[in-house]
Amino acid sequence: MDLKQLVRTIPDHPKPGIMFRDITTLMEDQAGFKQTVDELVEPLRELDITRVAGIDARGFILGGAVAHQLSTGFVAIRKLGKLPHTTLSVEYELEYGTDTLEIHTDSVKPGDRIFLIDDLIATGGTACAAIELIRRSGGTVVGAGFVIDLPALGGRRKLEEMDVPVRTLMEFDGE
Ligand code: AMP
Repeated sequence: MDLKQLVRTIPDHPKPGIMFRDITTLMEDQAGFKQTVDELVEPLRELDITRVAGIDARGFILGGAVAHQLSTGFVAIRKLGKLPHTTLSVEYELEYGTDTLEIHTDSVKPGDRIFLIDDLIATGGTACAAIELIRRSGGTVVGAGFVIDLPALGGRRKLEEMDVPVRTLMEFDGE
C-alpha cells in the first residue's frame, strides 16, 4: 500500500504558507497504521534497543506501538508542564519564539539504548531537543524514525551531524 496516499494535506494550517501533513487519516486506516508501524519497526530488531522514546503527542501513538512490537518500555518526552515528577528540560527555537520539551529525570537508565520516534521531521529542532534530553539523562540515541520527512527544511541532515541515523517512510516537497 502507498502510505503517502493516506496522509491528508491541509494548506495554510496553522498559518499561511504551511502545508500541514495530517497523519490522523493514515492512523485511522487499519492496514495503513499497521504497515506504518511495521515499516518503522522492521530495521530495528537487530539494534538491541532497550527503550523507545516518543515526542508529545503524535510520537506517543506511533512510539507506543513500536515499543510494543519490540517488547521494550516507552519513554515520554513531553511539552512543558505536563510531566508530574522531577524533570530535565531543553528550550529550542521555533520560527517565532521558543518551545520547551521535558523528560522525567529517572526515565532513562544507565546503558539505555533508545530509539526516538515522531510523526514528522521538518527543521529538526524538536528532535534535536529530544536527543539532548536523552543524552543529558545518560542514554544513547541509536537512531530516530519519522513517518514523514520534509527534506527542504534540513532536519535529517542536522540529526545525522549529531551522529543519529535517521529513518523516514516518505518525503514531501516544501514546508
Ligand atoms: P521541526 O522541529 O521543525 O522538525 O518540526 C517537527 C514537529 O512539528 C513535529 O512534531 C511535527 O508534528 C510538527 N510539524 C512541523 N511541520 C509540520 C507540517 N508541515 N505538517 C505537520 N506537522 C508539522
